Amino acid sequence: MPKNLRNIAIVAHVDHGKTTLVDQLLKQCGFFRNNQVVPERILDNNDLEKERGITIMSKNTSIFYGDTKINIVDTPGHADFGGEVERIVKMVDGVLLLVDAYEGPMPQTRFVLKKALQAGLKPLVVINKIDRPDARPREVVDEVLELFIDLEADDKQLDFPVIYASAKAGYAKSSLDDPAVDMKPLLDAILKYIPAPEGNPDQPLQMVISSIDYDPYVGRIGIGKICQGQIHKGQEVVICNPQGKAEKVRVNTLYVFEGLKRTELEAAFAGEIVAVSGLEGINIGDTLCSPENIAPVDFVDIEEPTIAMNF
Ligand code: GDP
Repeated sequence: MPKNLRNIAIVAHVDHGKTTLVDQLLKQCGFFRNNQVVPERILDNNDLEKERGITIMSKNTSIFYGDTKINIVDTPGHADFGGEVERIVKMVDGVLLLVDAYEGPMPQTRFVLKKALQAGLKPLVVINKIDRPDARPREVVDEVLELFIDLEADDKQLDFPVIYASAKAGYAKSSLDDPAVDMKPLLDAILKYIPAPEGNPDQPLQMVISSIDYDPYVGRIGIGKICQGQIHKGQEVVICNPQGKAEKVRVNTLYVFEGLKRTELEAAFAGEIVAVSGLEGINIGDTLCSPENIAPVDFVDIEEPTIAMNF
């Protein structure tokens, strides 16, 4: 079991600081080479996104904290992509629910929290922007609790841990009275409260494709979590789609997310979130299976994107 691995998503209302938080974690976890120029807003440099003005593709990253790798799966910045949020919360073992310490929970906070609670996750609440002069973190925690109750969270979910942070200033703390030092308290909380992924690496491969990416050199890329088994570069796999179609293909290249890069590797095991190329016919919701055990994983309905709210 991959004990030194955590798969998380950061969910938030737009502008509550998701991009800033990920940038800060990347900075403090030392994933930048010394000579690498840090772009102002790392997760927003996607051409397609610029074109459409909203986040439509998931961009993932990972950081190392001590010997634990934390995969951070990006979630769409717009609630109209409801189906995608649903798929992402199914891929991770925990979510950080990021809430602005002044604004409090907003419509999209409610929407993404609902999806996370429905997926059975216990969110770690991060009250961000506590440096704001108008911040009211205590009240906002109460409002978050009310929201959990309203969304019928179970007892375990209601007992959520809270971290107070300024993603912009680069600190997090488990109590408002703690000194502001660095992001360590948040990283410690992730390790403490978010479970390591489950999945037996010795069983036949099952990997669910949760998002699709494109690369000018390798073409279509399927991204998802290995639910069980292992996947190797060059391995023969069967793409099973939810309609029951099965197609035998070969994995061309296998990647994991490291910092802001995709790094090639030979093999990956249950629990990891990986990207695979060479599978042109692949779609969201498909399962990659080993040929000797063709067993697609039941996935969420992808036909109707949920229209969550009107802006
Ligand atoms: P996103 O839409 O959730 O990705 O939000 P961004 O990370 O783009 O942040 C939205 C705005 O809030 C930006 O102007 C950030 O500089 C600002 N911001 C993010 N985190 C903090 C914080 O901790 N304190 C303050 N004061 N501003 C923040």
